Amino acid sequence: MKKGKLIIVSGPSGSGKSTVTKIVKDRLNVPLSVSATTRKPRTGEINGKDYFFLTEEEFKKKIENDEFYEYANVHGNYYGTLKETVQENLNKGLDVILEIDVQGALIAKEKKKDAVLVFFKTKDIHVLEDRLRKRKTDSEEIIKVRLKNALKELKYESRYDFTIINEDIENSCQELIDIINR
Ligand code: 5GP
Repeated sequence: MKKGKLIIVSGPSGSGKSTVTKIVKDRLNVPLSVSATTRKPRTGEINGKDYFFLTEEEFKKKIENDEFYEYANVHGNYYGTLKETVQENLNKGLDVILEIDVQGALIAKEKKKDAVLVFFKTKDIHVLEDRLRKRKTDSEEIIKVRLKNALKELKYESRYDFTIINEDIENSCQELIDIINR
C-alpha cells in the first residue's frame, strides 16, 4: 500500500506559512494535524482545533510518556506534534503536513529521511515586521522576541529542501501544491 508523504513547513512568524498551509490542506484534503502547546490561546483560538492547549505540567508528562513525534521550545513555550498525528495517517497512505519550527523540523527529518522540508520567508525582514504588527495578535514585547527569533530561524534555510518566498498567497499555495505533488 502507498505510504503517505511527510511535508514539513517552517519559517519565521509573519512569513504567512500558516495561512498558506491551511489553504493547501483544505484543497488537497489533507487531515488536520493539531499540535500541543503550553502557549496561552489567542482570542478566537479553540482547544482541540487550533492547538491542544496544555499546562507545562501536562506537556512534560507527555514528554515523559514518550507521546511526541517531536517537540521544541519556541519563543519560551513548548510546542509538539503527537506521534499518533503522524504515524496513523502515514500508515493509512495519507499525506501529513506539519507546520512546525526549525528545531522540530530537523528532529522529524532525522526520524524520516524522506520527509520534505519547505521553508517560508518574506522578501526581507521589514515585510515580516510589518505583518507581525498589522495582525495585532501579539504585544510589542512578543513581537520583539519573534523578530529576534526570525533572524535565528533564517539561518536554517539551507537545511531545507525548498524555499517559498511568500509575496502572493495564491502563488505560494500553488508552489506548495507543486512540491507536494512532485
Ligand atoms: P504560534 O505561537 O504563532 O502559533 O507558533 C509559534 C511557532 O511554533 C511557529 O513557528 C510554529 O510553526 C511552531 N509550532 C507550532 N506547532 C508546533 C509543533 O508541534 N512542533 C514544533 N516544533 N513547533 C511548532
